[in-house]
Amino acid sequence: METRILDGRALAQKVNQRIKATIESKGLSPGLAVILVGEDPASCIYVQKKEECCESVGIRSFFHRLPATTTQKELLNLVERLNHDPLVDGILVQLPLPEGLDATELLDAIDPAKDVDGFHPITMGRLVEGREDISPCTPKGVMRILDEYQIPLEGKEVVIVGASNIVGKPLAMMMVNRMATVTLCHIKTKDISVHTKRAEILCSATGVPHLIKRELVMPGAVVIDIGISRWKGRTVGDADTEGLMGVASAITPVPGGVGPMTVAMLMENTLILHALRHGIELDW
Ligand code: NAD
Repeated sequence: METRILDGRALAQKVNQRIKATIESKGLSPGLAVILVGEDPASCIYVQKKEECCESVGIRSFFHRLPATTTQKELLNLVERLNHDPLVDGILVQLPLPEGLDATELLDAIDPAKDVDGFHPITMGRLVEGREDISPCTPKGVMRILDEYQIPLEGKEVVIVGASNIVGKPLAMMMVNRMATVTLCHIKTKDISVHTKRAEILCSATGVPHLIKRELVMPGAVVIDIGISRWKGRTVGDADTEGLMGVASAITPVPGGVGPMTVAMLMENTLILHALRHGIELDW
């Protein structure tokens, strides 16, 4: 069987071009505020990518790079200021935060109308109800890839490995909203292979390199690899991509799959929030 590569990078370019064209043609000025605390190397790279992408599509970015010694109170004050800043449509707190800081309290403090990452409990609650005007960027990027490649979800057996609040849980909900039958696995799942082997669509977001091996995958399955880790000096996902060639019918590469789509969805969410705040029709 030929394994199709689901090119997230190409799709992200397409999405970003549409965002840029919309901003230009309608004369919009969306703004994104990003808060980075400390110097976690991966976070610094992600924030830089977001900054570059903002610039390339015409989103004004307000980057707040703060030392690891920043207090919770200072961060809460900053979020409060950004909540009231008319130039800011979306507020993103880059996770993880340094030890001692309370991410939940900070995310809860973001005005839901500026919740560009979709992590606020109100946004999550809306997602559970099937209202997905704003949804978390990574799962949203996964859904967009599946749509682009016309991979149907209705009635499909979907297995997701990894059940975090930012990826696995919202992705499960979005799959249910599309009428898939969903199994959500995590570190305490007794034997993930029992589940993964019957998945028609298998998504993995654990950060464990090579967790998804050939023998865990049903022939013909679509594999969505969300994990990102460093392994032997390379950036790899959760899937043993080489081992899955000829077994999976399609797979997202790492890098070049879900990662670029996450950034593109961040740009899209910023534009949507801008449009919602100003009552602008995006006619998409
Ligand atoms: P997390 O640590 O919050 O959650 C990991 C999840 O995986 C947990 O539910 C845990 O129970 C589960 N897990 C860990 N080891 C497992 C195992 N051996 N078997 C079964 N389940 C296991 O991480 P996260 O923030 O959700 O990120 C997960 C991965 O996705 C990371 O590699 C991260 O870098 C990547 N990620 C990628 C993007 C992207 O844009 N592609 C975005 C966010 C996160």
